[in-house]
Amino acid sequence: MQSAVELRSYQKAVVEFITENVRKQGSAAVESPTGSGKTLMGLLSALDLSDNGTRKILYLTRTNSQQEQIINEIRKIGKGFGVKAIPLQGRTNLCALYREVEDSADFTAESLSRFCSLRKRKVMSGDPDSCRYFNDKVRSKDVQNYVFSNNPTAEEFFVYAKENGFCAYESLKFSMKDANLVIAPYAIFLNPVTSGRLIYNWGISRDKLIVILDEAHNLPDIAREFSSFSVSVNQLNLAERESTEFGDFELMQRVRTSDFIEMIRNAITDLVRDKIGESGEARIRFDEFREYMMIENSMSSEKYSSLVDYMSIFGDYIAEKREKEGRVPRTVILSIADRLRAWETLDDEVYAAIVSRDRLGTIEAVCMDPSRILDPLRESWTIHMSGTLDPFEVYKNVTGFTEMNHMIVPYIFPKENRKIVYDGSITTKYDEFDDQEAAKMHDLIDKLVTTAGRNTIVFFPSYSTMDKVSMQGFSFRYFSERRDIDQGSFMEMVRKFRKGKSAIFAVSGGRISEGMNFPGVELEMVIIAGIPYPRPDAKQKAIMEYYERKYGNGWLYSVIFPTAIRMKQAIGRLIRNEKDRGMAIILDRRAASFMKYIQGLELSTDPEKAVLDFFTKNG
Ligand code: SF4
Repeated sequence: MQSAVELRSYQKAVVEFITENVRKQGSAAVESPTGSGKTLMGLLSALDLSDNGTRKILYLTRTNSQQEQIINEIRKIGKGFGVKAIPLQGRTNLCALYREVEDSADFTAESLSRFCSLRKRKVMSGDPDSCRYFNDKVRSKDVQNYVFSNNPTAEEFFVYAKENGFCAYESLKFSMKDANLVIAPYAIFLNPVTSGRLIYNWGISRDKLIVILDEAHNLPDIAREFSSFSVSVNQLNLAERESTEFGDFELMQRVRTSDFIEMIRNAITDLVRDKIGESGEARIRFDEFREYMMIENSMSSEKYSSLVDYMSIFGDYIAEKREKEGRVPRTVILSIADRLRAWETLDDEVYAAIVSRDRLGTIEAVCMDPSRILDPLRESWTIHMSGTLDPFEVYKNVTGFTEMNHMIVPYIFPKENRKIVYDGSITTKYDEFDDQEAAKMHDLIDKLVTTAGRNTIVFFPSYSTMDKVSMQGFSFRYFSERRDIDQGSFMEMVRKFRKGKSAIFAVSGGRISEGMNFPGVELEMVIIAGIPYPRPDAKQKAIMEYYERKYGNGWLYSVIFPTAIRMKQAIGRLIRNEKDRGMAIILDRRAASFMKYIQGLELSTDPEKAVLDFFTKNG
């Protein structure tokens, strides 16, 4: 392998480990600390495995900011390695036209694809105004050269394309054929329709792909989220309005669409009434929803299925009508019909049917075993990169990569630059976290942040804990990442935080706990104010029971594994290079159970003194 980049010895070892294992077994995993050069190691390994372009590299990321970080890395190494990279995103981010005709950005990939196909067909049959962005420039070699030589981010390329009057999405699609690396969101590749298109447009088969999974510890949750879905009373209300707008089609004799929607709404409301106790949600059997529909409306199973089919036909009609009006063919009716059909195919063994009071009443299908969703990934070579895959046995089993080997890169920065302690005198445990304990937590945070006088992120296990603790305010300047904060306000908050001595209150596992860099003095202290265990709701209980049945340790698989990941990710924000210094304090005595997963974690009987000592010593 040619090397224009100077690799450290552990990085060379990682590249060797990956290439050897992937060639032998088709996959390899590396757990390596933040700041150790995971992107570089993953890319160099994949380039070596690509055998001079015979195989192509797909780099999957969870967020746009992670995609940008990969692009930045490619800018550093790209030229020496002949990397031709495409920063791919869906039409939601790259189609300029739909934003001109619709206010919302809440469209499915499928509806935007239909919107685009029609516009392009019209352009090709002589109506260039149907989409002025779909023109000769999308197939321009000059634009392709621009992409390959400048490595713009998707957002930068979108702006460039718009200013120059052509479509960013179509242009990237065209350039992709000559690319050896595509960086794309996980969502595109986990969706069978969009991944099929990606592979087709790229002109490659799955077995010739090397897939790098960025922040791979997220893979189980991403796959689970991707394959879970719900139908709520709120959505049904929207569907009812849509039906009225488009003529309230009669699905069967004396059953209009609005009647059928009413039946579904009643069945959900009655399930909520009958099945839910104090907790606000309950697990049901998948069949129970259909049974409620049949009993309450004296209908046969066949009639119910036919009504869902006809509802879907009405949805198609609405989509076409919207299409003809030049709008995005989105329809809530079609989407509900699709979900009701999918509901019928699920079994209680691998999915859990949950009924809850959310959104005025909801039925939700929750995928308990993401390994099946990830089966298509096994057709390609995969490289799993993460800062936290421990316990690895759990990661392997949950994702279904059961034969995969992994390598751990030990903490690489000076140990004295980082200290991690926990306070054994406090907890946010549900039955102990009363007003008195919350006041104690408040006072501790206040003392720690004022003593340190450094930029601090405080991670709470939930918004309700954050509210309870911060009710009386603090003596230092702080910002709160509210549940409903929009992206613009969020970025503004982060910008202000970076500038001065202040704190951010955030929720573990949220936007701040992953994929954001705070180098040097931008972040010197992290407080984890309570262990971020998953909420013990019906969904969590179902997942725990599933893994208890399958591996005999539901607690480890469904509680310890995700909780350890969240805490390690939060602590990982502190140190990005050998000059960074930082201290993490976990305010919860239950941290003792995580000592084997968090290197260097120790008990402190006086965290305030520990903070003072650390920052006195470290300047
Ligand atoms: S060609 Fe591009 S701009 Fe035009 S509709 Fe399709 S994605 Fe949108």
